[in-house]
Order: sequence, then C-alpha cells, then structure tokens
Amino acid sequence: MSSKNEPGFRESVEMLFMRAAEKMDLSSDIIDKIRVANSTYTVRFGVKLRGKIQTFTGYRSVHSEHAEPVKGGIRYALSVDQNEVEALASLMTYKCALVEVPFGGSKGGLCIDPRAWDEDELEHITRRFAFELIKRDLINPSQNVPAPDMGTGEREMAWIADQYHRMNTTDIDARACVTGKPLEVGGIRGRVEATGRGVQYGIREFFRHEMDKEAAGLKGGLGGKRVVIQGLGNVGYHAGKFLQEEDDCKIVAVIEHDGAVINDNGLDIETLKSHISEYGGVAKFPHGKHVEDGSLVLEHDCDILIPAALEGVINMDNAGRVKARFIVEAANGPITAGGDEILRKNGVVIMPDMFANAGGVTVSYFEWVKNLSHIRFGRMQRRQEEARQEMVIEALEKMTGESFPDELRGAFVSGADELALVRSGLDDTMRGAYNNMRDMWHRLKAEDPSMDLRTAAYMISIDRVVKSYSTLGL
Ligand code: NAD
Repeated sequence: MSSKNEPGFRESVEMLFMRAAEKMDLSSDIIDKIRVANSTYTVRFGVKLRGKIQTFTGYRSVHSEHAEPVKGGIRYALSVDQNEVEALASLMTYKCALVEVPFGGSKGGLCIDPRAWDEDELEHITRRFAFELIKRDLINPSQNVPAPDMGTGEREMAWIADQYHRMNTTDIDARACVTGKPLEVGGIRGRVEATGRGVQYGIREFFRHEMDKEAAGLKGGLGGKRVVIQGLGNVGYHAGKFLQEEDDCKIVAVIEHDGAVINDNGLDIETLKSHISEYGGVAKFPHGKHVEDGSLVLEHDCDILIPAALEGVINMDNAGRVKARFIVEAANGPITAGGDEILRKNGVVIMPDMFANAGGVTVSYFEWVKNLSHIRFGRMQRRQEEARQEMVIEALEKMTGESFPDELRGAFVSGADELALVRSGLDDTMRGAYNNMRDMWHRLKAEDPSMDLRTAAYMISIDRVVKSYSTLGL
C-alpha cells in the first residue's frame, strides 16, 4: 500500500523503531538484537477441497521471547507474507511492553482470501493450519497464544482451541492456547469489542489533556467532533459505534474496500454496518455520497482520522494532503515512516498503533488469566460487594432518618460482574499507558522538538525489553 518509492512495512516499522532507539543510550548490539524477529516459521500445507489438493502458505513469527508466552493474532489475507508477519510480530512486542501485559511478541498469518471459501472449507483449512502450528508448539498455552486479527474472529479461534484440545486431551489449561474465543468455549465478556473500546478509551484520555489537544489544534470535549474511519470491521465498527453512541462524535465518512461514503451531517454506524453485512460494501448506501476511490477520503476534512483497516495507507504520496490534525492508528502500521515524517512536520498528532489498538491484547491477557484460573472474574465477590453496599445504605438511613433515594439504589448496589471488571481493567490500562507516553513526550520535547507520542511509546517499550534482557540474560 505504501508509495512505490518507499520501503515495505517491515522496513518502515524498523525505521520508526530506530528513530526512537537512537535517542536512547543503548549499544548498537542490543538495538540490533531487539530490532529483528527471533524466528519465522513458514508452512505450506495441502487440503483436499473442491475435488483437488489446494496448497496454502502460512506463517508464525516470534519476534521476542523476553516474556512468555508470546502473543499475537492470526491474520487471513492475501497480503500475508514473511515481511508482514515479522513487522506485526515486532509491533506486538512493543505493544505488550507498553501496556504492561506479560507477553513477548508474535504474529501469524495465512495467505488466503477468506471470502473465497465457505464456512466448512475454512474450518478444514484452519484446523490443518492449527495442526501444523500446534505440533511445533507454535500454539501452546505457555509458549505461544494466538488471537484474532484481520479476516479472523471468534469462529476461527474456537476451531483452533478445539484442535489444540484434540491433540492435547490431558492438558487442563488447553483453553488458554488461544484468546478471542466465544464465551461458551472459554472466551471472556468484552473481548470482541475490546480493540475498538480501547481506541475509545485512548481518545477519551487524550481529550482529558488540554496541552495534547492544543498540539492537535483541538478544543473542547469529544461531543460533535467530526470523525473519518477507514475499515468498518471489528476494530473500526466498535470504535465508531462507541464514539458515536457514548461520546456524541459525528462520523462524517467511512472508507471501505469498495469505496467510501460521506455525509457531513453524520452517518449512523449501525445502519451502515447492517447495509455492509447485507450488500457486502458501502456502495449504494442511501444516506450518503459514494466516492469510488476510497483512499481520497483519507484527505476529507475532519477532527479525528481513524485508519482501522490496512497498513501503509497514509504514505509519502498522500500524507501532505491529510487535513486531520489528529490521527488515531487503530490499524497496525497504517502510516509509513515516510508519511509519519511529513505529518509530524505538518504538526499532526499521531496516536501510535502500539498504543491505540492495544485494547485487544489487554483483554486477551484477561481471557488467558481467566482460562488458567478456571473461574469467571467477579464470581466470588460480586454478591458480597452488593451485601456490603446494602449495609452502607442501611447505616446511612439509620444515621440520617432519611430513606436512600430509590433512583440511586440500583446503581449503588451493584457488584462488578465480568464485563464491568474487563472494562475497568481496560480503561485503567489505556489511561496508565497514555499517561506514561505523554509524560515522556512532553518531558523530552522541551529539548528535542522532534519528539512525538510514537517515539515516546517506542522508547518506553524498548527500555522495558532491554531491562528484561539484562535481568534474564539473552
Ligand atoms: P477485520 O477483518 O474485522 O476488518 C477489516 C475491515 O477493513 C473490513 O471491514 C474490510 O472490508 C475493510 N477493508 C479491507 N480493505 C479495505 C480497503 N482497501 N479500504 C478500506 N477498508 C478496507 O479486521 P480487524 O480485526 O478490524 O483489523 C483491522 C486492523 O486492526 C488491522 O490492522 C489489525 O491488525 C488491527 N488490529 C486488530 C485487532 C483485533 O482485535 N481484531 C487488534 C489489534 C489490531
């Protein structure tokens, strides 16, 4: 997707990594060690479908094992190749370090167009791919734990979990071999929405800091802010839905694989999503103007631009024409190193991918812990919390002689269930990581005007990985 004169995705990630690493007091050998992926396994396997043997190529890359298990999604797309999975695996290392989840970085992918196969065929293909990875411990609760990514979701994760269980019938922790599973097979409430929810929490935290908003030329709260989203898949849809329904943002354009739809008065995300599910794209959506070349709409006037689909979509060719002053990288790598340079010079504030989309891996961490502990969060304490709150009400009523307002009783007497705990843990993680990142950004900016949120994020992550290496040895 990047412009012809630009390096590919992996090189681009490495350039952004180097920009940060060079600002740190580190030896070149440790920088070189962290920069590259530790290993990448390629598998070519055959599945008999439609009367002949179809050969598929898949990958699982491990970027860093400074913490185990390593973690990272499995992507189904025709773009998948070794460079792409290595770039994505390295981003997983930095992401996990930044949000303090105790995993190393990994990523997998299958070079396939998932729309070209029906459900039964996809199940055969997924189980065969999983078999190849499981037998090499590239899927394993204590070593390597995949999750969904582009082109995969709960359904594929359930097949993978079942395949692992069939091959490891006595492993009591088998369910922890993969996250993003449906609830019935060990998933956690709030995982499907987690990445989009994390995008929302990240943006909310950004809007709590006047200085940060000012850097992006923004004022006031989130209400009424004009948002453009690229990709209305898992991440883009949830981010858009929550920003619209809970923060009153106005979604003025959505870019999809078949073009874009614009409505400066606001698009209703639920209605648009139903249209996409029914007709396969945004074309013919009756409540907006259709633009055939969707990439042009990345340049549409808005307050917040959220690329949530592919990598390299904002690059040296178009970065100079982007009007948004605040870009939230919900996708992995949507801005190339060259594009990043241009945007920074133009005063655009970029919330980097390794932070913005970290909600997915954060809730995956909660799911993994739930699977290992074999109990739903909140099960032991919820009713006990409620009983205590009832006692507080009773005491207040006795002390004041007044009765507690009925309209507040329900909200006051409610112990946290799993979903509430997941959201609280996610919000806390996103706020904490954002504040670490912005502290570093503003502290170093005084002496180095080229500092930005991405460089700060890399510096925090690299420092944590270096500390693990030096504590543990290589
Ligand atoms: P998805 O497959 O659910 O959705 C991707 C969407 O992008 C689809 O609606 C697709 O039609 C659309 N799309 C495809 N080509 C496009 C094009 N040329 N222009 C515009 N839209 C196009 O994928 P997802 O899980 O939402 O992932 C999106 C991005 O977020 C990826 O970069 C992924 O790595 C990243 N991410 C996902 C998760 C997760 O939990 N799913 C977590 C972290 C990061």
